[in-house]
Amino acid sequence: MSAVAARKTPEPVTADPEPAKCPVCKGTGEVSRTVHVGRKHRAVGQQTGLCLNCLGSGEAPAE
Ligand SMILES: [Zn+2]
Repeated sequence: MSAVAARKTPEPVTADPEPAKCPVCKGTGEVSRTVHVGRKHRAVGQQTGLCLNCLGSGEAPAE
C-alpha cells in the first residue's frame, strides 16, 4: 500500500455567529428587581421586568 501523503484540508469555517448574550439579564430578556413600598421602602418581593439593556431580546445590543 502506498503511503498517502497526509494533506491537511482545512475545514471550511461555517459562519455561525452566535449572538452574544446580554450581560445584564444573562440572555433571558428579563431582570428581577426588588419592589419596595412605603415610606420605609420595605421590600415586598421581587418583580420581573423587561431588561432595559437589550429591551427584552436577551441579546447584547450591537454597537
Ligand atoms: Zn438584557
